[in-house]
Amino acid sequence: MREGQNHVIYRADYQAPAYWIETVELCFDLDPVKTRVLNRMKVRRNPEVAAQPLRLDGEELNLARVLVNGQGTSFKLDGNQLVLENLPEGHEPFELEIFTTCAPAKNTKLMGLYTSNDSFFTQCEAEGFRRITYFLDRPDVMASYTVTLRADKKKYPVLLSNGNLVDQGELEDGRHFAKWVDPHRKPSYLFALVAGQLVAREQRITARNGREHLLQIFVRPGDLDKTEHAMNSLMASIAWDEARFGLPLDLERFMIVATSDFNMGAMENKGLNIFNTKLLLASQATATDMDFLNIESVVGHEYFHNWTGNRITCRDWFQLSLKEGLTVFRDQEFSMDLAGSPSARAVKRIEDVRVLRTAQFPEDAGPMAHPVRPDQYLEINNFYTVTIYEKGAEVVRMMQTLVGREGFAAGMKLYFERHDGQAVTCDDFAQAIADANPGSQLAALLPQFKRWYSQAGTPRVKASGHWDAATGSYTLTLAQSCAPTPGQPDKDPFVIPVALGLVGADGQETASRLHVLTQASETLSFTGLAAEPVPSILRGFSAPVILDIEYTDAQLLALLAHDSDPFNRWEAGQRLGLARALGFIAQEGLAPAALQLDAPYVEAMRSVLRHPQLDAAFKDLALTLPSETYIAEQLPVVDPQRVHAVREAMRLQLALALREDWEWAYEAHKDNGAYQPDPVSVGRRALAGLALTHLCVAAVHQGDTVWPGKALQRFKDASNMTDRFNALSALVISGHPLAANALQRFHAMFRHEPLVLDKWFALQAGAPDRGGNILPLVRQLVQHPDFSLRNPNRARSVITTYCNANPGGFHRADAAGYVFWSDKVIELDAMNPQVAARLARAMDRWRKLAEPLRSAAREAIARVAARPELSNDVREVVTRALA
Ligand code: ZN
Repeated sequence: MREGQNHVIYRADYQAPAYWIETVELCFDLDPVKTRVLNRMKVRRNPEVAAQPLRLDGEELNLARVLVNGQGTSFKLDGNQLVLENLPEGHEPFELEIFTTCAPAKNTKLMGLYTSNDSFFTQCEAEGFRRITYFLDRPDVMASYTVTLRADKKKYPVLLSNGNLVDQGELEDGRHFAKWVDPHRKPSYLFALVAGQLVAREQRITARNGREHLLQIFVRPGDLDKTEHAMNSLMASIAWDEARFGLPLDLERFMIVATSDFNMGAMENKGLNIFNTKLLLASQATATDMDFLNIESVVGHEYFHNWTGNRITCRDWFQLSLKEGLTVFRDQEFSMDLAGSPSARAVKRIEDVRVLRTAQFPEDAGPMAHPVRPDQYLEINNFYTVTIYEKGAEVVRMMQTLVGREGFAAGMKLYFERHDGQAVTCDDFAQAIADANPGSQLAALLPQFKRWYSQAGTPRVKASGHWDAATGSYTLTLAQSCAPTPGQPDKDPFVIPVALGLVGADGQETASRLHVLTQASETLSFTGLAAEPVPSILRGFSAPVILDIEYTDAQLLALLAHDSDPFNRWEAGQRLGLARALGFIAQEGLAPAALQLDAPYVEAMRSVLRHPQLDAAFKDLALTLPSETYIAEQLPVVDPQRVHAVREAMRLQLALALREDWEWAYEAHKDNGAYQPDPVSVGRRALAGLALTHLCVAAVHQGDTVWPGKALQRFKDASNMTDRFNALSALVISGHPLAANALQRFHAMFRHEPLVLDKWFALQAGAPDRGGNILPLVRQLVQHPDFSLRNPNRARSVITTYCNANPGGFHRADAAGYVFWSDKVIELDAMNPQVAARLARAMDRWRKLAEPLRSAAREAIARVAARPELSNDVREVVTRALA
């Protein structure tokens, strides 16, 4: 049944296209059941490539007619390709006209043209355009687009595509049309159309250069009151890109449209971004602080793609990180610049590193490990990964570290001078940054630096210090290594920028520098020291590596108290917590309920919580224990239930030992004024929420009802979703009986708000497991009238949350969690392979599981792999898992 390419694609096989498409005129008769697409192209042979037939990509299309220069022509269908052999000789352009139909309402994959809530949307990246018409669906073929949309006017009053609206009017039978011309050439993956009953928030702005622009955010009529934050974020993005990189908006009109059915977060279609509602709509009543921050960063991300991705695009999909790594780096910098204070910047950095270490490091150590620039893939959609995005951003960040902020801006300038309007490679980008900084270490080390693009796996840096009291000298040896990854048994040394400092016991800093580690092992010497220093290494997380270093508790306590680098200050606290968690996990026969946290650790946590200078946001991060996933990554063999039980027990101890401090923290930080999503208020709400959770956890343990009662009251009185949801989750996490009542109220209050219902589902599916209660609950949730497997946000809120974000509930000794996982992967794969493949990755780390979980997991994966009708997406994930 499934057609299409089912073989591996190799980067080394890249060949320039044999034909160019210069212009495309598309005419759509939109109908959910049968949409007619007339595609008229001007095509010419690429003189640099040997003559060969024209092979156009197409998928799930009904082909009605093919004309060349207005005449019928012979053609072949070869798998998913339309092959034209008898084309005009010579290098003059010819006109190719193709008429096809497709069925948007049946398109459950949400790739190509589909319907959602009675509107039409498209998603073309990476290879969705071929589901709309036959085309050279590859990013290095850039064409000028003219698009005419025709549809019923009542049902689809708004008709949008890329570029400028040049004509519109009435047609017969209650239909109307709109004609759009995109002034910029673009690859097909940036094409978009939208049609439906939508309303817009509009904003006119004047850029620095005096140009006027119209900004529009289109949503369903009831959602207009949730678009202000996105519009503010868009205006901030435009101003930021001009100020920081000198990159202006190159369009008269910039549109964003929200849809509630979307496979990913958002899409940077030229001039017509399409967003998952989750990453666009926000009001204080329905969205948390985290939602507000995510919206700001994703609006920025898609806007920044207008230059890094759209003006300069990728030669082929192996270069995906060229645009994604760079654009994530840009959105991270944008969020940091908006956050303002050094402390707020550090908080953002810590959050980004947390994502990298809990999601990307495991990917880099598992069966799907791949370089930032992969060498092969079966299904490109599987490579929209944390490695391409987040590790890719770290690689760009290291370049900035090596050439400095101004040098990096100069490099970006040269990149645009050289490549504007082109489809290029990661090599082209790195070369431009290096060439703009001829005296830099990046320029000197470029070929070695580029191993970050070609070698997968997370490097480890082992640091060992030696103090010689007699001479007052300290030596620090840094040794790097990188474990094998699939297809890459041996690794060469990386270029690792190591920001480091030496901190005296009194907190005085005696040295601070950037050391660029290039050899397998190097030794640094520091002289003239009065006392043994504590090394603070990898400040600001200056490279995406694992730092192995044997600190004593005393050293970590010193760093936690004094390090001038906020990242390493936080990291010291995490190391203290992690060491204890690992110690308890390893202590055979130790019942989690019996574990005891030592006084020095508890006192250190108390000092952080009570610290007069530290920001609330930092305290929230420092008092949050390392995640179960992160703890599990440090273990060779993992029993997820034990990890869960130990972490829960540690949290309970912190809740009990610091009870009065948590009370103080809650009272001192709970918001009373008007809701503001600024970093200081966000931090205060986060810390108040963390305090409330600890207070409820302690209360349940002590059989006390005061704090659960207060949490319920807070839940009822809250003026914003952050406080309301924090109170609700404090009750749910603590397992107090009042949680049931609050959950019910919450559902009743927000039953017409899909994004809030997603939170309601996710909170329950991700709740701490108590005696195996979560899987039965999840089974109930997928039967709930508000549940839908078809809607990706909803499916993820229950199923992905359970399988991926609830290790204690998922990894059951009876393997029922794995059976549930395999059932859902198979069920989802039949409708939406991308969502299914993401879920499939929940089992990536199965080899590390303790028996009998390991065997049970393998069996569940094999059960999926044995299905005859798997998509390429899921097949690639499960085959690699078993390899
Ligand atoms: Zn992106």
